[in-house]
Amino acid sequence: MPEIEAPAFLDNRHDTPPIAPADNPLLLGDWTGGVPPFSRVRAEHFLPAYAHALAEHAAEIAAIASRPEPPTFANTIAALELSGRTLERIDNVFSLLAGAHTDDALQEIERAISPQLARHWSQINTNAALFRRIDAVMATAEHIGLDAEQKRVVERYHARFRRAGAALDEKAKGRLAEIMERLAALGTAFSQNILADEQAFVLRLEGEAELAGLPDFIRESLQSEAAERGIDGYVVTLSRSTVEPFLQFSDRRDLREKVFRGFVMRGDNDGSTDNKTIVAEMAGLRAERARLLGYADFVHYRLDDAMAKTPAAVRDLLGAVWRPARSSALTDRDAMQALLQEDGGNFKLEPWDWRYYAEKLRRRVCDFDETAIKPYLSLDRMIEAAFYTAGRLFGLNFTPRPDVAVWHPDVRAWQVSGSDGKEIGLFFGDYFARGSKRSGAWMTSIREQRRLGGDVTPLVVNVCNFAKAPGGEATLLSFEDARTLFHEFGHALHGLLSSVTYPMIAGTNVAVDLVELPSQLFEHWLQQPELLQRFALHYQTGAPMPEQLLARLIAARNFNKGFATLEYIACAETDLDLHALPPPHPGDPPLDARAFETESLARIGMPAEIVMRHRLPHFAHLFSGGGYAAGYYSYMWSEVLDADAFAAFEETGDIFDSATAKRLRDCIYAAGGRQDPAEAYKAFRGRLPTADALLRKRGFAAPTAAVK
Ligand SMILES: [Zn+2]
Repeated sequence: MPEIEAPAFLDNRHDTPPIAPADNPLLLGDWTGGVPPFSRVRAEHFLPAYAHALAEHAAEIAAIASRPEPPTFANTIAALELSGRTLERIDNVFSLLAGAHTDDALQEIERAISPQLARHWSQINTNAALFRRIDAVMATAEHIGLDAEQKRVVERYHARFRRAGAALDEKAKGRLAEIMERLAALGTAFSQNILADEQAFVLRLEGEAELAGLPDFIRESLQSEAAERGIDGYVVTLSRSTVEPFLQFSDRRDLREKVFRGFVMRGDNDGSTDNKTIVAEMAGLRAERARLLGYADFVHYRLDDAMAKTPAAVRDLLGAVWRPARSSALTDRDAMQALLQEDGGNFKLEPWDWRYYAEKLRRRVCDFDETAIKPYLSLDRMIEAAFYTAGRLFGLNFTPRPDVAVWHPDVRAWQVSGSDGKEIGLFFGDYFARGSKRSGAWMTSIREQRRLGGDVTPLVVNVCNFAKAPGGEATLLSFEDARTLFHEFGHALHGLLSSVTYPMIAGTNVAVDLVELPSQLFEHWLQQPELLQRFALHYQTGAPMPEQLLARLIAARNFNKGFATLEYIACAETDLDLHALPPPHPGDPPLDARAFETESLARIGMPAEIVMRHRLPHFAHLFSGGGYAAGYYSYMWSEVLDADAFAAFEETGDIFDSATAKRLRDCIYAAGGRQDPAEAYKAFRGRLPTADALLRKRGFAAPTAAVK
């Protein structure tokens, strides 16, 4: 069992004696209903608690792996499922605080603990003795009277270990470890090169002539970008949140081109920060890794564990959406070309013109003022709307629980119960932005549902970053914010409604291309007139949102969708092309990432006026870490699922149809990873998903009319 030592800084920084487990609230069993006693938890409790929990888990694993009795489901799989409870509990609290309410001390702990955790898990997942036992249970799984869920859990364990390389001989394991280490180092270099290119680009805007067209909110953000760099005036940098609005509004075509070129050439400047050779080496290493693990290429490796299963299934989907999206984008392009000529322009529309003329077109077609919408979307009403939808669909009730311990005074807790009054769990909403919270919105759990070893109810958290209104005023949301609230609440329901025995497959522990279904699907209800008429009420007068405003809001959501779809799919296709390459032979000339990209785009017929949303030399989803390598398609895969799933309600004529809602709960929200994801979807919908509903949702022609 490996020794887990506390990092040195703990010893020199704190002159208090080490905290004994009996004095550490993270290790005590007195958490009311599983809720941590937040007021008593301090940063210095975490490392000793982690050390204790990691050692305990390592000992449990060693005991399971070295049992003298022959492997059984109970002494191997169930034992693994019961192990590591202390670690899980501490890790959940730490992750929650590190994201939602952090400080310097917690950040220092995060840097110290994350490599230790990575090592801990990789030692377990490649443990040969343990894998032999899992393999033996897997080999007999059909004949030892396991139920369907148990069989699935065995399969998931087997896949996890096999995919980590536990089945390989020592030589192959050694090579795999080398590859993983090299990939990690390359990933870090890749990110740092992009950062360097972004930091090297600063465009100062001098005088009104260079600011022409920019509205106040952009000027303000360019001013604060300048101030951050100690510069007086206005500065354009290469962050997406600056570049996109600049391209959308700046009247200065020459400056738009300059900013555009800076942005799309990040990592592709042929100097010391160039990423093209890193891209080539990482693709080669991933191909080699896939071969070592018995797969044809990295795409097959990735998809084998996803709902999509095969490259053909993904390509078919992308192709079905690409064709109508492309014709929609070309129609928009022609409209913009006409518009710029009408305006006296005598040039061909270029990529740096697209956002600018799209904005002009938008103002003609579906103009609305975001500030007119906000008074109708108060945070409290939108929370009510989300609870109401969950009530109508799944019979859930939400009761405020101000007595439950929370990590910040703004956090609210609710008791969740079923229509029969049975307690389902607790839901925490942490909605407001603050300095101690990282940006974005997410769902997490303090405790996941399980039945193994006693019934455990889930404690589920939503974290958002809405700007809090001052002085106790009602907080008003943009439509995008309200959508985020519904999205995260959909994830929360996936955690809350979970009804399984084994933690391995509880709640959101499902395939990567299925996990966004419960969240994206839930967003659909927010956009229904039935719901908006009921909850989008003026925060002062209580009047419903005017119908014309509502209609413009809906129309605006599909504007310029052809462009957005193409810049996205081009990335997904190129990602698949790159990760389908075989490992390079020694002596081969290295892959030229720029030429490779050009070829991929030519193959799919990318219009010259649109570039990939992320070009390979700065495609962080694929190369800073590897979470989305050969997996960028999954955003669209999930969107196909959610559009198709919502259509199941629309087809009944009732967006709360109870029979459909019951199937949705049984097969998706409550089911966790109990079933193969495609089987689970089929059980809900009676068939596999098609792209038709997505095409309608994005405002594209029906596929049959648009193909070819
Ligand atoms: Zn999500």
